[in-house]
Amino acid sequence: MRFDIITIFPDMFGSVFSSGVVGKALKEGLIKIHIHDLRKFSLDKHKQIDDRPYGGSPGMVLKPEPIFAAVEAIRDEDKTPVYLLSPQGKRFDFSLAEKLAQCTQIILICGRYEGVDERVIQHLITDEISIGDYVLTGGEPAAVVIADAVSRFVPGVVGKIESVRQESFLKGLLDFPQYTRPRDFKGMKVPEVLFSGDHKRIERWRKRKSIEKTWFLRPELLKERKLIAEDKKILKEIQAEKKGKKDEPD
Ligand code: SAH
Repeated sequence: MRFDIITIFPDMFGSVFSSGVVGKALKEGLIKIHIHDLRKFSLDKHKQIDDRPYGGSPGMVLKPEPIFAAVEAIRDEDKTPVYLLSPQGKRFDFSLAEKLAQCTQIILICGRYEGVDERVIQHLITDEISIGDYVLTGGEPAAVVIADAVSRFVPGVVGKIESVRQESFLKGLLDFPQYTRPRDFKGMKVPEVLFSGDHKRIERWRKRKSIEKTWFLRPELLKERKLIAEDKKILKEIQAEKKGKKDEPD
């Protein structure tokens, strides 16, 4: 899978992809990330990539010609999806990450300043993607987020695919709490059940903690997920125990 990122600040990507799981995947050739300097696709001699907005308003807008030229040069196939990072876009989440990981190439365009000329949005891109309801100074941090989260779904990138599947959201619940050595850190103890060696008990404890955390932190996820009878029972127990401490999710 290949990510092509179009930016006016290629240096911003520095070593952000060179460590950890993504760094290893790049070394092994499981993924490729190409950073393209938009300025190289500028058609005028001053290498201008932005200009003032028509109609008059503060700030600058990225010009359409270099972006169209960049996409044309980079795209392997007509069907390669092209995404503009934008606060106005579709909200990026795990299911979109999983879907994008099916592509062989995706192109990510990082906006800057007041954004990009509307003709890019109307006539060039497949869709706009937002990483959340806030405004960044540019699309580059969003491109890093997307490349990272999508890479995890590319086969082989995360050692065990089960660990991707077990993660928060994928099973519709938040992940259970994790502990490592030491067993007792300044009086803060690791729950006893984790030393029991009883895998069924540990599994039940983890399931219960996942449901509990989800109910506390992201109750709307429980509404979206069809809980099986056993999970419903666990949730009822948790709610009964914590009654008075927290309002029940409606
Ligand atoms: N004037 C625009 C915001 C421009 S911010 C508006 O109000 O919609 C400059 C650039 O940062 C955008 O073009 C986009 O590429 C990027 N950006 C800002 N916030 C973002 C977000 N939440 N998700 C993805 N990209 C974002």
